[in-house]
Amino acid sequence: MPIYEYQHLKKGCLRGEVFEVVQSVHDRPLTHCTECGGPIKRIISRTNISTPKTNSELRDLGFTKLVRRDDGVYENVTARDGESKMMLRDKPETYPNLKKTISD
Ligand SMILES: [Zn+2]
Repeated sequence: MPIYEYQHLKKGCLRGEVFEVVQSVHDRPLTHCTECGGPIKRIISRTNISTPKTNSELRDLGFTKLVRRDDGVYENVTARDGESKMMLRDKPETYPNLKKTISD
């Protein structure tokens, strides 16, 4: 079962401001602390944040990933339209077009 993090909206509970509760995904979020009865809210737990794994996920999130293929040769595995697939150290025209990516 997943672990959810809750935050007290008022201070003074023995559990501390933020505490963890193991709940089923089918359980409704708690609204009050079972210890002190104070109001609480569920917060996004760090453990629930998924990291992008595929190259296309990375590209969609705006990342550029270079994989070293040889000395001074990198493959841009997240190449977008108009970008060079291979990046050569001494050829700036093959570098990823960050300006274009950022202005998107
Ligand atoms: Zn409490």
